[in-house]
Amino acid sequence: MAKRKDRMYEPCVRSRSWLKINPLKSCDCVIFGYTSGQGSRKNTFGALILGLYDGATPVHVGKVGTGFSDEAEGLLMKAFHDLEVSETKLTKADVPEPVSWIQPVLVCEVVYQSVTKENKLRMPRFHRLRSDKTAMECTFDQILPVDLQEYEAKRDFSLTPEPSGAAQQSEGNAFVVQEHHARRLHYDFRLEKDGVLKSWAVPKGIPEKTGEKHLAVEVEDHPLEYRKFEGTIPEGQYGAGTVKIFDKGTYEPVFWKENEIEVALRGERLNGKYALVRFKKAGPKQWLLIKAKD
Ligand code: MN
Repeated sequence: MAKRKDRMYEPCVRSRSWLKINPLKSCDCVIFGYTSGQGSRKNTFGALILGLYDGATPVHVGKVGTGFSDEAEGLLMKAFHDLEVSETKLTKADVPEPVSWIQPVLVCEVVYQSVTKENKLRMPRFHRLRSDKTAMECTFDQILPVDLQEYEAKRDFSLTPEPSGAAQQSEGNAFVVQEHHARRLHYDFRLEKDGVLKSWAVPKGIPEKTGEKHLAVEVEDHPLEYRKFEGTIPEGQYGAGTVKIFDKGTYEPVFWKENEIEVALRGERLNGKYALVRFKKAGPKQWLLIKAKD
């Protein structure tokens, strides 16, 4: 339905602005094995098989086949020689080509773009070997997309019925608008992004007419679970009052830049394009929510 239109925006979403708002991240991974090199890399390895520890369990997070200096390549080849093993503890490594497994003691830093739904590093690139870190220090939580510290810090979950919940790996595009009868009535506009709900409080509600602008105040990221939340936040708690879902559905991103976001909402009440534009003059958290032209 909206697919054809999206393609038009893809170059922008995929390349320029997408890269800008998703700077490269890095994490320290354990090398569990390697594939053999092909072609010009015939005398060395092809890619390193990477894992991270979720508690005591190693989780496969993909493989890295680029970014090696000659020096790093030499060091790795030499190290592999003494570490070969016939079996691995990395049980769910779905690598199609044959792998030479090694004792999981080598740690390397890898830079990457993002994490897929299957918990694999996207566009990984070898950065350096790390002898200052142990394998068990390479924990899975390094690649969880965002933390929700601010959300957690504001709430006492023994008192509020709101969900606690960590950031999740997800690539959905949910939106929700919650009618929040707090000290002052406002509408919370939330868009799923990178495993959390990006959130704005809109005192005057969602604009209805094209070109109409309402002030929207950026608030802390909320857990994805929050999109289903309705209920009463008790007196004395942050945001005390009642919360009702005004509308929910999915959205198609048109573009998502640092200072300007445009989405097409597909809800039950709200349908069509909305823009969020940073309103710097009014303050660092101030935006304008605008009903855009479809
Ligand atoms: Mn609110």
